[in-house]
Amino acid sequence: MPVRAGVTIPTLLSPERRSVEFRARAAALGPVRESGGAEAPHHGPWSGVFRFCEVIGAVDSPRSAARGRTSSALAAGARPWQARGVPDQTLPLRSRTAIAAGRAVAAASRALGRGRGQVIGGRVMLRVDPQLLARLAAGMEVTAVSATNGKSTTTRMIAEALATRAPVAHNRTGANMAPGVATALAESRAAPFAAIEVDEAHLPAVAAATHASQLVLMNLTRDQLDRGSEVKMLADRWRRMAETLTPATEVVANADDPMVVWAAAAAPRVTWVGCGQWWTLDSALCPRCGAPLARPASGWACPACGFARPETLWFISHDADRIVTPAGPVTPRLVLPGRFNVGNAAIALAAVNARGISLDAALEAFSQVSDVDGRYVRASAHGREARLLLGKNPASWTEMMGVVSDSAALLVTVLNARGADGRDPSWIWDVGFEEWAGRPVWVAGERRFDLAVRLDTAGLDVVGVSADPLAALELAAPDQALDVVANYTAFQELRARLVSK
Ligand SMILES: [Zn+2]
Repeated sequence: MPVRAGVTIPTLLSPERRSVEFRARAAALGPVRESGGAEAPHHGPWSGVFRFCEVIGAVDSPRSAARGRTSSALAAGARPWQARGVPDQTLPLRSRTAIAAGRAVAAASRALGRGRGQVIGGRVMLRVDPQLLARLAAGMEVTAVSATNGKSTTTRMIAEALATRAPVAHNRTGANMAPGVATALAESRAAPFAAIEVDEAHLPAVAAATHASQLVLMNLTRDQLDRGSEVKMLADRWRRMAETLTPATEVVANADDPMVVWAAAAAPRVTWVGCGQWWTLDSALCPRCGAPLARPASGWACPACGFARPETLWFISHDADRIVTPAGPVTPRLVLPGRFNVGNAAIALAAVNARGISLDAALEAFSQVSDVDGRYVRASAHGREARLLLGKNPASWTEMMGVVSDSAALLVTVLNARGADGRDPSWIWDVGFEEWAGRPVWVAGERRFDLAVRLDTAGLDVVGVSADPLAALELAAPDQALDVVANYTAFQELRARLVSK
């Protein structure tokens, strides 16, 4: 049925006033044209939401959107990515309504001091339009990155490298389930690339919804003991996802993690990257047959069934100072510390190279990454320099031990056990803290006594215990630096306090 697309009447107005508004807008719109069909939000349960959003200015009316399309097209000129991106107006009105409603809720969340609003805003978007992820991603080349550890950093590297070519949609604050991804894609609708980190358990659903053409699979280890799935269950879930892929999707996978190889080997097109594995206790057994894996110097192999590390053309050198590529070795110039970040750079390098980014351009982009939101932050407190490092599970603590082992800074460890951390902190007994034996350490956080007992048992010199990690500043000399390794909520709180100082 023909309707006047774009004629929306604020429902808060009196009937008389609405009638005047309707006539004025209808006259301004000109001839009648066909509507977008069932998606038009002027009818149906979301019409009120759309009208509200238009009244408060959170969404353009179709007419003002049409004006914006003309002016932006003239202003921007013909850039190659613009033809491939999805401009606002090509989205169904239901999707635009969803985005507007999500933005309004996110803005309210921020105004109330309840956080950045990306998750709640994304939830509203997906509630209004369950197909929104697919619609937003329709014009994008989506790279989805997943791992237990390192996905934020690697996604950031990939996004920085792709951005040397064209705009990139990127969930850089780490909101890594469908709502956070929806928010990120909605904020960069014209971008031809998307680099999204995705929670391990949610990867199959998000990858399918966004029709990701590249999946970067890095590692699977124990995490959040009371919340997360068993490692082998996640690997099986990834494998079932890989079995459904076509050659249109490239999988870039870590050949050094047997669980990842078990999953990725089911995909029809895989680029293997040897980007390291320093925590091996979650892949002690063969994922195919259950026999203990052998770990010769060349990698890993199952003596029972022959399942073994695949050959790779991309890998990090033994001392993790170079990345070997099919074009020869290159030297990463990373600001980020640790050999695991060289591994992150190696798999990011293979991923963006497949997108047409040169090795030099990618390495230059990686070298610009100095802080990663929620993972690695440098700050100062009372004149003392502090490195804030995330250690959230046995694998990431093991990686952080390598980073701070040679440091002269005062070591401060912080442990909470809230919902986001996992309420069961017994995993601290899995970490090989004995490597730090004899080292002075300050222990803080809500579960400081659990951690202090563990560190004392491992032979560290526990010099102080306090609820507040900054109490360690009183012990430190005025010019002494601090290395603070904290788990998830402890890291977030400390970052907020230190970065705002
Ligand atoms: Zn086997």
